[in-house]
Amino acid sequence: MVASSNAVEPCPDCGATVAGGTAGCQSLMDELLARDFSDVTYFRVHRLLVDTYSLQHPERYCASVKSLAAHLTGLCWLLEHDGNRAVGNEALRRWLNRNPRLDKPELPSFRGKLTIASAQAASDSIRYAEAVELWARSTWEAYSALQPLARCWIQQGLDASPRKR
Ligand SMILES: [Zn+2]
Repeated sequence: MVASSNAVEPCPDCGATVAGGTAGCQSLMDELLARDFSDVTYFRVHRLLVDTYSLQHPERYCASVKSLAAHLTGLCWLLEHDGNRAVGNEALRRWLNRNPRLDKPELPSFRGKLTIASAQAASDSIRYAEAVELWARSTWEAYSALQPLARCWIQQGLDASPRKR
């Protein structure tokens, strides 16, 4: 397929209307990630950004069940347990690093109405954090069929942690 790299077309994964489609969407993400590491006021929702974007682009970021579990439990932890939106949960990370046996479920094809475009449009770090939160909740809603699995994996991860809360 021959297409101008600047053509405004929807990203096939998340539906964001961005110049350059998939590549344009990815470069938006790269910009937001780079800003996180240069400005601590944006880094406050770094993990929320990563988990949300990854769940909207699972072909790239959730190819293995381990990476899916990382992002699915990650988002669940942040939204349902009011976890640390900058860095996530260390006990869950340690559990996944031990490669627990997990089965990969079917993923939703619709991944929510909001996309990275809504976060990118925010004019300052406060509005940005609010936009990422709304985008994250909309994505979590689209993953409603997998929410019980996410909760079950979180329980497994916390139970397996030597330092339980
Ligand atoms: Zn996208």
